[in-house]
Amino acid sequence: MSQVKSKPLDAKMEKMGRDTRLGHIGSDPFDCHGFVNPPIVRGSTVLFPNAQTMATQNQAYTYGTHGTPTTTALGNAVNAMEGSAGTILVPSGLAAVTIPLLAFASAGDHVLIVDSLYGPTRRFADQMLKRLGVEVTYYAPDIGAAIEGLMRENTSIVFTESPGSNTFELQDIDAIAQIAHSRDAVVMMDNTWATPLFYRPLDHGVDISIHAATKYPAGHSDVLMGFVSANAATWERLDEAQTLLGTCVTSDDAYQVLRSLRSMGIRLDHHQKSALDIAHWLETQPAVAQVLHPGLESHPQHALFKRDFKGSSGLFSIVLKGGGLAEAHAFLDALQIFGLGYSWGGYESLAVHVSLADRTVTKGNYAGPLIRLQVGLENVEDLKDDLSCALTATKLG
Ligand SMILES: *Cc1c(COP(=O)(O)O)cnc(C)c1O
Repeated sequence: MSQVKSKPLDAKMEKMGRDTRLGHIGSDPFDCHGFVNPPIVRGSTVLFPNAQTMATQNQAYTYGTHGTPTTTALGNAVNAMEGSAGTILVPSGLAAVTIPLLAFASAGDHVLIVDSLYGPTRRFADQMLKRLGVEVTYYAPDIGAAIEGLMRENTSIVFTESPGSNTFELQDIDAIAQIAHSRDAVVMMDNTWATPLFYRPLDHGVDISIHAATKYPAGHSDVLMGFVSANAATWERLDEAQTLLGTCVTSDDAYQVLRSLRSMGIRLDHHQKSALDIAHWLETQPAVAQVLHPGLESHPQHALFKRDFKGSSGLFSIVLKGGGLAEAHAFLDALQIFGLGYSWGGYESLAVHVSLADRTVTKGNYAGPLIRLQVGLENVEDLKDDLSCALTATKLG
């Protein structure tokens, strides 16, 4: 029964629209007595019917750390979105960064990492990778094919993130991947901002696509998770690292994320529309020197954005027109709807003051403090009113 019902849909799924796919990927209702959603299977021990099956491990599930029907449903859904050979689900977005780096970097290797990356990724590289005998070089996000000049005999990984965290520089991933592959390096990309709905890393030559599922996939600021999706060439080694490290997720969390994936397309459309509306409006505000959003015509790499991305999400930054810490804090403290908090991708708007102190290659030359905004699902006019009051409180412009 399950095969009759599910197989024809699977075969046609690739050609269907984004939201149709999001509504059905990962599911096999007739494997669950017809229930639309998979069961939440809580489990450590899995029983084998006899000694021979146990000895050969010849069944779908063998132990809780190696997956459950619930985590399989989510993993299948992520593979369908990413076009990947396999996906591991890990306990946080940060783990989705650190586990593939651990899986592919060995003592004596050299690793290239983009300078505009998520701060905790840099701390992992500077502290743990270095301690493990891996040398790290940071490069400018706009390097493109010139990355060739930084490649060494022992460069094993080129790590990318586009747009860059907080400052939103884009990378020419296709150009970088081509050079990296000609030198047998593995290309990884933190694609949290765009999600696979707006950019599919594997289609651009990336080997390993990384996603903080805490953000848009979970979407409600209540679950921590990471997705790491690999192409056929890298899947075995990534999967092996997950087995060796035991960094699995619970079925409860997998269920929550699969539930939210169903609405990710329409949520992202709303985030995109509201964020672009607010970004355009902010460009006209006298207290704002600059808006850093790749979807704006004013973004220096807007052409690259249009070439590569199907859309933009709800996260961008503004540069205040002069001032310093006092003005940044005055802005943040005047906000009433935007919360002051880390993370993003949830339904509620957030703001943080950004520091570029850790950057070594591209500190940027900004007119004033940087504030990162996550535009949530609230009404745009209310968000503009909130921002307008906060800009007035800066006494700039
Ligand atoms: C938030 C974030 C992460 C880490 O995700 P957590 O689930 O918070 O650990 C990784 N990369 C980027 C780009 C992020 O924004």
